[in-house]
Amino acid sequence: MELDKALDLIADVPDFPEPGVLFRDLSPLFADAAGFKAVTDGLAATVDPDADLLAGVEARGFLLAAAVGYARGLGVALIRKPGKLPRVAGRVGYTLEYGTATVELPEGVVRPGQRVAVLDDVLATGGTVAATCKLLEDAKVQVTGVSVVMELGALGGRSVLEGRRVEALRVC
Ligand code: IMP
Repeated sequence: MELDKALDLIADVPDFPEPGVLFRDLSPLFADAAGFKAVTDGLAATVDPDADLLAGVEARGFLLAAAVGYARGLGVALIRKPGKLPRVAGRVGYTLEYGTATVELPEGVVRPGQRVAVLDDVLATGGTVAATCKLLEDAKVQVTGVSVVMELGALGGRSVLEGRRVEALRVC
């Protein structure tokens, strides 16, 4: 399947998770074999050839990073929400539109000097990915770039990630 057709499988859901928000639902894309393959191949092509490892952000980033990791022969560091890890190597808090959130790095998954590519499904305000990059850099890892399926351009995520290589398969 062509990448554009695959991306058309993403559904726009108005008023979720709250009134006025247009949520991009990737579920139909993940459930479509050809669509999932097209997006996996598309993302795999954006990952720096020198990357040693992928970092996937919970939860849909796990799915993407696992598929791309298999395609590219790379392992995956699971970047988790709080309270899930038995051993936490580092944590970074960040601000959401309403409230705060935290990302955590498991113990024993990265080594200083490694080159890591970050994967997630959607780049919105950029807070999640920016916190993930800081988490990795605090662990003395080099972030080679950020790859997402969809970037919501109006929310300004790219400016939060200024100076980083950001690849989006589709910008809305
Ligand atoms: P940000 O931190 O504002 O950039 O939000 C990005 C995070 O929220 C990602 O981990 C996404 O999974 C999730 N997210 C934000 N908006 C959407 C959406 O419209 N569809 C799916 N996930 C979203």
